[in-house]
Amino acid sequence: MSSAGAASPDIEARAAAVRARFVGFNLRIGRGGRVHRVELFAWIGGVLIPAPACHVGFALDPGRLEPDAGPVTCRRCRDKGDTATTTYAQLEIDMGEWAT
Ligand SMILES: [Zn+2]
Repeated sequence: MSSAGAASPDIEARAAAVRARFVGFNLRIGRGGRVHRVELFAWIGGVLIPAPACHVGFALDPGRLEPDAGPVTCRRCRDKGDTATTTYAQLEIDMGEWAT
């Protein structure tokens, strides 16, 4: 295997699977009590994955993120914007061209 700068198909597939889990949801980090608003961030190779909008506790391990249907309870996320899912849904539509 070579070490190209672009994301491997495996990474892209994993990122797409993670994104799909969070469409229409907010998120929690592990068992943390706070619910964060979701934003997409560049991850390995520039692929986009969901992460807390406030950047708190995000250790580049999307496996720690859990979808949550509850309202955003993180004050920093609420200060950054309104209810999260609309923004994320719009980004997901834009991502369609990337998937091909
Ligand atoms: Zn937050």
